[in-house]
Amino acid sequence: MSPKHHPTPLSGGDRKALRKELVKARGVTLMLARQSEDLRARGEAMIREADKLSCESWNERMWADGEPIDPSPTVDQAVNGGFPWLQIECSRCRTPRDIDLAALKTPSTTCVHDLATRLRCEKCKNAGKRPVATLQQLAAKLRNLSPQ
Ligand SMILES: [Zn+2]
Repeated sequence: MSPKHHPTPLSGGDRKALRKELVKARGVTLMLARQSEDLRARGEAMIREADKLSCESWNERMWADGEPIDPSPTVDQAVNGGFPWLQIECSRCRTPRDIDLAALKTPSTTCVHDLATRLRCEKCKNAGKRPVATLQQLAAKLRNLSPQ
């Protein structure tokens, strides 16, 4: 794209004023862009912190009472907040499992509690049962589960 053309004013004073305004506008362009970047980074850091707190709050409720599982953070919020793993247990055979939230095929706007009815235990499925998953905790890391 060719640079924008500003018609040259006839008077010398106006030409000087135009040059000055152009220098000012170019300087402000950069300054405003940097301010925008800075605010966006701060905003994203605050959202990340809010997501983390939302996960911690849900974890505390799960640890204390195990219910209600609703409301819960969304998959997106859990991953963004540093809790990309969901620890579950089969409500029938008690087999524990860690779910990689980032790898789920469900939309990332799905709430974690909505996963309870979608995460089926393989063992029980093979036995013809469809028990719901008991949601336990959101976690930063994969557990070291002993092989079944
Ligand atoms: Zn099971």
